[in-house]
Order: sequence, then C-alpha cells, then structure tokens
Amino acid sequence: MRGKRTAVVAIGGNSLIKDEKNPTVEHQYESARETCMHIADMIEQGWEVTITHGNGPQVGFILRRSEIAAKVAGMHEVPLDVCGADSQGALGYALQQNLQNILYQRGIRKNVATIITQTLVDKDDPAFRNPTKPIGSFMTKEEAQKRIEENGWSVIEDANRGYRRVVPSPIPKEIVELETIQTLISHGIVTITTGGGGIPVIDPGDGNYRGVAAVIDKDYASSLLARTLQVDLFVISTAVEKVALFYGTPKQKWIDRLSCAEAKGLLTEGIHFAKGSMAPKIQSIIWYLEAVPHGKALITNPENLGRALKGETGTWFVP
Ligand code: ADP
Ligand code: MG
Repeated sequence: MRGKRTAVVAIGGNSLIKDEKNPTVEHQYESARETCMHIADMIEQGWEVTITHGNGPQVGFILRRSEIAAKVAGMHEVPLDVCGADSQGALGYALQQNLQNILYQRGIRKNVATIITQTLVDKDDPAFRNPTKPIGSFMTKEEAQKRIEENGWSVIEDANRGYRRVVPSPIPKEIVELETIQTLISHGIVTITTGGGGIPVIDPGDGNYRGVAAVIDKDYASSLLARTLQVDLFVISTAVEKVALFYGTPKQKWIDRLSCAEAKGLLTEGIHFAKGSMAPKIQSIIWYLEAVPHGKALITNPENLGRALKGETGTWFVP
C-alpha cells in the first residue's frame, strides 16, 4: 500500500473498560482516548493503521438493558446482531472522535471513519449445531423452557447459577465490507472496522445476507482482516503488557518473542493460554503468520504500545 508500513490494531473490548465496578460511557470514552493517543503515535511514525475492536462487555450491557426494558416496560427486545451493530456504532464513535481530535491537534490531516461491518460465516459451520457461547442473564428453569419453546433458544444449565442462553461462535469467512475498507485505506483514511468481530451474517444461498444470533471472535476476525489486507504488522492490544507461560501460576514466565512454530507448540500444550481469552489471540496470530510471510505480530497493552514498537517490551511473534 503506497510503500507505507501497514498495521491492523485490534483493541480489546475489556481494555476499554477502566473500572469494572463503574463502567460508564465517560470512562469508556477516556479509555478510548488513551488508546487513540498511542495509535496516533503510530500514525505519526508513518504507520498506515486499520483499527478493529472487541465488544464483549459492551454487548453484555446492551443485552441487559434490553432484557430489563422488556420486563419492566414491555419494550421490544434487541436481537443479538443488532446489539453488535449498536456496539460498533457506539465504540466506533468513541474511537473515531477521539482519534480525529488527536490527529487534528497534532496537525495531521487525516480522516477517520467507522464502517458498520458484517462478517460472513458459513451457514453450515459446525458451531451452529453446537452453540457454546453464554450470553445474557441467568434464567430460571421456567424462563429457560419458555425461551426454548417460543424463541428457539439453546440453553445450558450452570450448576449453581441457573440457566443461560448459548449461541454459536462460527469461524469468520469473509469481511463483507472489504472493498469499502480497502478503498478508504487507499485514500489514507483511518478506518475502524470489524467491531466485535463483525456482525455475523449468513448467505442463505440467494445472495441476500441475513444477520444471525451468533458471536464472532474479534481476534479471529481481526486476523482475517490482517491476512486479507496482507498488513506488515498485526497488533493485539489487550490488558496485559506481555503474554506469559504458566499464566497466573507460581511458575509464570513472561515471553518476549516467539516464532510461529513455538507459538503453535505452546498452544497445543493447552496449559499456558486461557481458552476464551489468550488462546484465540495466539491462534489468530498463528493463522496470520502462516498467511503473511513478511508479517510480524505483537501482543501488549495500550500504554506500552510505543515502547513495544521500539522493541522494548510486549510479546513479539515472528515467522
Ligand atoms: P480482550 O478484551 O482484549 O480480548 P481478554 O480478557 O479476552 O481481553 O484477553 C486478555 C486476558 O487474557 C488478559 O488480560 C489475561 O488476564 C488473560 N490471559 C490468559 N492467559 C494468558 C497468558 N498466558 N498470558 C497473558 N495473559 C493471559
Ligand atoms: Mg477477548
């Protein structure tokens, strides 16, 4: 891309929440601002950046509001794909406005745009037959039964806490808005895209995309984007400065650098990287490195992004 160094930077949904007990919009805006400062540094250093972000906690809040509003005031419920779209809009707004402000303050004439992004999944993905991702509040047995019968939900029983809806987490196949994203990037516009892994859509066979009640792993979808764009660098910005071996145990050891083969070996061991948090990040990076021969990947937290890019910290993944 015009000889510039290109990067996809995936921002963790959890890393945008400063205080778990008090997750206000203002706090999230402030976290977004801090992360955007570090991304603006990258842009200033000549990186052509495309931003993606998670939305797990945020969709949790949207769903909770929807549930309460339905119970208390008889309001309509918000379907999961629409929760995803809402979160892309709200998080995109926080990131877009902050980054735009920071760039203008620094005299960088660059535009920032958020793309509502759909991610195509295979309607026959095995995940649809085996929904595993719990979402929404816990329910009583009666509520669960009603949901199964009336709404066709899949529900699991949690030994102590009650019943909970589960949805499939299919593998992302294609970013529907890819051409739009590429067009914007080629005009030097910083795009915020594939929020929350993108809104999952299927093609029922007639070419008319349709949203589905599923969740897409944002790390997998960010990897797909990084692979498709063949960017030079794939950054996963999360809540830890580095990845560790034996994470959270007395044997914990921070990792500075891994080859793709080493990362694969450690992932297979199955004890180092927690399922649902670090493991999908490592898998995403492996897929990216296998598809982009010149690629490098980095996991660190927003505040250390600058130092990590200088090679001073973070966990680096190399071919
Ligand atoms: P995000 O919203 O950025 O996707 P996650 O909570 O899903 O954040 O994943 C990042 C978290 O993974 C870290 O904050 C850390 O608590 C956890 N984690 C699990 N295994 C490891 C590991 N081996 N090294 C570092 N962090 C790990
Ligand atoms: Mg995560």
